[in-house]
Amino acid sequence: MSAPGPETAVPVRVRVAPSPTGDPHVGTAYQALVNLAFARSRGGVFVLRIEDTDRARSSRESEAAILDALRWLGLDWDEGPYRQSERLELYRSEVDRLLADGSAYRCFCTRERLDEMRRENRAQQRFPGYDRRCRDLPVAESERRAAAGEPHTIRLAMPTEGECVMRDLLRGEIRREWELIDDQVILKADGYPTYHLACVVDDHAMGISHVIRGEEWINSLPKHLRLFEALGYEPPVFCHLPLLRNNDANRSKLSKRRNPTSITWFRDAGFLPGALLNFLGLMVSSRAEGEEKFSLDQLVDGFRLEDISLGGPVFDLDKLRWLNARYLREDYDADGLADLVRDWSMGQERLAAIAALAQPRLETLGDWGRLTSFLFVDAPTVDREKLAVKGLEETQIAETFQFMLWTLEREQEFTADVVQGHFRHLSEVLGLSLRDLTRPFYVAMSGEAASLPLFQSMEILGPDLVRARIRHAIEALGGISGKRMKKLQKRFEALAG
Ligand code: GLU
Repeated sequence: MSAPGPETAVPVRVRVAPSPTGDPHVGTAYQALVNLAFARSRGGVFVLRIEDTDRARSSRESEAAILDALRWLGLDWDEGPYRQSERLELYRSEVDRLLADGSAYRCFCTRERLDEMRRENRAQQRFPGYDRRCRDLPVAESERRAAAGEPHTIRLAMPTEGECVMRDLLRGEIRREWELIDDQVILKADGYPTYHLACVVDDHAMGISHVIRGEEWINSLPKHLRLFEALGYEPPVFCHLPLLRNNDANRSKLSKRRNPTSITWFRDAGFLPGALLNFLGLMVSSRAEGEEKFSLDQLVDGFRLEDISLGGPVFDLDKLRWLNARYLREDYDADGLADLVRDWSMGQERLAAIAALAQPRLETLGDWGRLTSFLFVDAPTVDREKLAVKGLEETQIAETFQFMLWTLEREQEFTADVVQGHFRHLSEVLGLSLRDLTRPFYVAMSGEAASLPLFQSMEILGPDLVRARIRHAIEALGGISGKRMKKLQKRFEALAG
């Protein structure tokens, strides 16, 4: 046992703070797990905070999916969820304090002016940040223009000389020159705070003792430290976790383009929550050197943040399968496993929806298995030849898959009708018959060209499995090069309007 550090006196309060802007990401589960394990190991409190200040991208559906996913994994929070959109007054009153003492200032620059400035900065290879034109506006003028209703944002006035000295629990001291840090917008023209302000105000207001989050936020730390100081808050301990990496040659950062990253995919593909948690625990625990199968309680026992290694943890799906297999073999007898399978695949509602699709095509109950098996597997086997459509190149087929993938990634409502609407639209804009367009999708979903009705099957599979199957089909056709992808993206944006 090592001697307790000075911070042991402080009650431990930690948080995970997802933004509800998409699918519940495994990265959120990974951070939640570390926070929870740390809180439990120190008798602390684990808080859940929803950072929904990006009005255009946040949604209640995404929030609900995140809460469900965390519950499914057993990552239960002790406090919250707090929602930042319900705390706007607090942020505004803190901004008023910053304005009053000159730590922040109003910026009246229009979007056009800022675009122009950015172009110039790039052309002249200057510092890419804001040129601080409004920083020295006389206070009286700034107040008059604001009172007259002129749209503006509020920016934080950063120090212009010296060094920012930061401490990270895993990395020790990190230094950055202040002059390289931008005067960040902290309050947007719509009166909503940006992430930086809301995060710092809340970390203080919620008494957070340790901020444990992804390493992508290290670059924001100088801004946060400046905010802590300007607001007169005591900063917490910071611990930035190494990002999860793909199991590829250059250990690229985990992205949904390559790997399934949505927690609901893992559930729908038949992984067990305990196995997924255990797997995420392997990324951060020194237990990984001994017995690799362990429970949350075992992870908590003796958990130390200091033991987390900075080498990018590799998210190896094969390893997860291996671990999941051990859970299935070692933790269930045949009866238990039967219950598990039934609960996973055949909730009454799901089964009834599948029965309705299969009914017109059944001669005997014996046909059931063959007709519906693709709805009960994590992924069907897809032959490249079966994806062919007369008169279309393989690359064209891959592109229609990609267009549909992008379309579905933006879709919040995943019903047969909505999906069908997307197929109709795509067939029109691409000038393809609905029949030619849908044919390879039958294969991608079921492995067969003739199968149960496509749109309803997609609804039953759900967005995560559908998207993973489309991605597999694109791979089966040889993939799409990075260059081609950029062009396609432009064309897609144009088509989507
Ligand atoms: N909302 C941020 C995110 O989703 C939270 C970052 C933080 O933990 O400070 O990544």
